[in-house]
Amino acid sequence: MGKLAEALKEKCGKEIQACDNRQLYQALLAMVQEEAAKRESGEGKKKIYYISAEFLIGKLLSNNLINLGWYDEVRDALADAGKALCDIEEAEPEPSLGNGGLGRLAACFLDSMSGLGLNGAGIGLNYHLGLFKQEFEDGLQKEVPNPWMEGQSWLIRREVSYPVRFGKLTVHSRLYDIAVTGYHNRTNWLHLFDVETIDEGIVEKGISFDKEDIAKNLTLFLYPDDSDEAGRKLRIYQQYFMVSNGAQMILDECVKKGCTLHDLPDYAVIQINDTHPSMVIPELIRLLTERGIDFDEAVEIVKKACAYTNHTILAEALEKWPIAYLKEVVPQLVPIIEILDGRIRRRFEDPSVAIIDSTDLVHMAHMDIHYGFSVNGVAYLHTEILKNTELKAFYQLYPEKFNNKTNGVTFRRWLLHCNHPLADFITGKIGAGYKKDADELEKLGAFDDEASLRGLLEIKHQNKVALKHYLWETQGVDVDEDSIFDIQIKRLHEYKRQQMNALYVIHKYLEIKKGKIPSTPITVIFGAKAAPAYVIAKDIIHLILCLEKIVNRDPEASPYLKVVMVENYNVAKAEKLIPACDISQQISLASKEASGTGNMKFMLNGAVTLGTMDGANVEIADLVGEDNIYIFGESSETVIGHYEKADYVPKDYYEKDEDIKEAVDFLVGKEMTAVGHKESLERLHKELLDKDWFMTLLDFQSYVKAREQAYADYEDRISWAKKMLVNISKAGFFSSDRTIREYDRDIWKLSE
Ligand SMILES: *Cc1c(COP(=O)(O)O)cnc(C)c1O
Repeated sequence: MGKLAEALKEKCGKEIQACDNRQLYQALLAMVQEEAAKRESGEGKKKIYYISAEFLIGKLLSNNLINLGWYDEVRDALADAGKALCDIEEAEPEPSLGNGGLGRLAACFLDSMSGLGLNGAGIGLNYHLGLFKQEFEDGLQKEVPNPWMEGQSWLIRREVSYPVRFGKLTVHSRLYDIAVTGYHNRTNWLHLFDVETIDEGIVEKGISFDKEDIAKNLTLFLYPDDSDEAGRKLRIYQQYFMVSNGAQMILDECVKKGCTLHDLPDYAVIQINDTHPSMVIPELIRLLTERGIDFDEAVEIVKKACAYTNHTILAEALEKWPIAYLKEVVPQLVPIIEILDGRIRRRFEDPSVAIIDSTDLVHMAHMDIHYGFSVNGVAYLHTEILKNTELKAFYQLYPEKFNNKTNGVTFRRWLLHCNHPLADFITGKIGAGYKKDADELEKLGAFDDEASLRGLLEIKHQNKVALKHYLWETQGVDVDEDSIFDIQIKRLHEYKRQQMNALYVIHKYLEIKKGKIPSTPITVIFGAKAAPAYVIAKDIIHLILCLEKIVNRDPEASPYLKVVMVENYNVAKAEKLIPACDISQQISLASKEASGTGNMKFMLNGAVTLGTMDGANVEIADLVGEDNIYIFGESSETVIGHYEKADYVPKDYYEKDEDIKEAVDFLVGKEMTAVGHKESLERLHKELLDKDWFMTLLDFQSYVKAREQAYADYEDRISWAKKMLVNISKAGFFSSDRTIREYDRDIWKLSE
């Protein structure tokens, strides 16, 4: 028996055979935690603090086993005892500490920092019930709490607590840590702050609760609802709680290492992930002055220590808080913000760069840009749009601050863990070097002989069979493993245009009903959560659930077309869906998706992208070449032009085009209203015709054309496999290791 098997047996207190999966999970968790703690290094004078309101970490057991180099031994020891590691994984609850891409990016970044041996930490909040768990009921999304901390979890309670003062109350925090193991490297920590007075009992129906009772609700949920004033204020409470704890901890750590506070930027660099942590700037200034530093110097110190990442160009997502809210929640910051704003107003005439605008809204991003040393976008196109359009006035003031850091994903989770057959195939061809150096994937490109390509197709098929079983067991839907798996999984948002995909499904359904049978059957899979107060997003979910009913129950159409809406899309589901995908839908309106990271995960797993020239799709297209991607739709310049001239009229497209008219009107036709809610479907119909803010109808025909071309090309299996091969072999650029090296080289400079 190997060492790990012995240790596992000892931890369980009995033979492995005699344990249930839950016990084995707990024992492995404890073993990993002990080993991870031994690999803590704390080495390095300067440290990167990545502050983020979200860390969508996913399940951790397998990932940690891989990073510690334990995976194979543990899997084999379990197998010898008749146990399967993948069954044990099912016992692990998934924390939903993020909404989507932004939180998942933060998790990938922590993995890469540890893997590269960088001295870093994450700082965030410990939401007890996470975002929410999605259930479908009567064709609608229902939100229920997602408790994930039951019993023993990855959280380690620390004897660290800070007072955090709000206008009306003071709370005392409690720190919990989660170990972030590096791939064959050091352990860093994810610090999650909490309060001990949280009362899960105040949750009433679904996820509603008393939003005023701050001491009891502060870390209950990841801001579920900002549609009312109490919800928005709660969000400010959460944000300040996060940054005040973070700032106090950073200063304490630095002082312990010999920092005089005057030299803080030699010890700490703070990466502000989107605007949620922006109050760390005035909070650090406040704390430094409290500790005896002169105000002007405090501002200069903070300016040298803070860097800001912008994640979106959607105006509604750039946070602006009414100063009255800040006066109520964090009155001690308001005079500081006013001084910071005053200095900007004296220096620059342009009112559009002010921090506090004429309606007394505080623009958090503006504070970050003026009082941080770096501003980065998350993909080439996104950064260009920031510089030339969205943040142009700021770029003209500070061209030296702007830089691009194209997002990446960790290959440990998104290849080694989620797709063992493919990882083994690659290792068999080019060796294991790519696991540390993703650029080595490029070597795979040489294996375009027929036997290798058939091998690739065989792996994809195997993964499709695995997904088929999973969908059958979890949702009771039966899909055809020989059909094309065409997948769109991501947050539900109008700009991502799930509605356009749904309109295509309608179009295809009607074509089949008219006798145009596809050569290979098609399975269209969706997965998406909608924000609880986002009405149209929920209408789109309803539309998809209605289509699922209509299409799958239709004896004429269902042999050729199936629709599946995966319930409660999260990291664990992504890990099962992505390896089985043939066509990756990345169809946002050009200029609207900052980067996307789902697109990268799919490419790495041998799916071919069908997408617009948006976000990182642009870089994917550059890398794989036009034969290995399906690009459609208007360019970002054209789209930005339409917004500037306000000349897009969806009705024109509807009236001119029979296919569009037919698909759009299907929404309110007899078949739909027989299974769905009329009010919701009519609202969506009206939205598309009267507004269509994200220009679905503009791109519809070119979308249909590109999609049909992809389906046609799929028929030639070998030439399709070549596209898969090119996609995998060019994916090395999208390793978050590359992204993190660039952050360190250009922004953090940890080893200088
Ligand atoms: C990667 C990921 C996302 C981001 O997907 P996009 O397509 O880039 O929006 C969202 N949710 C989960 C669970 C993910 O793993």
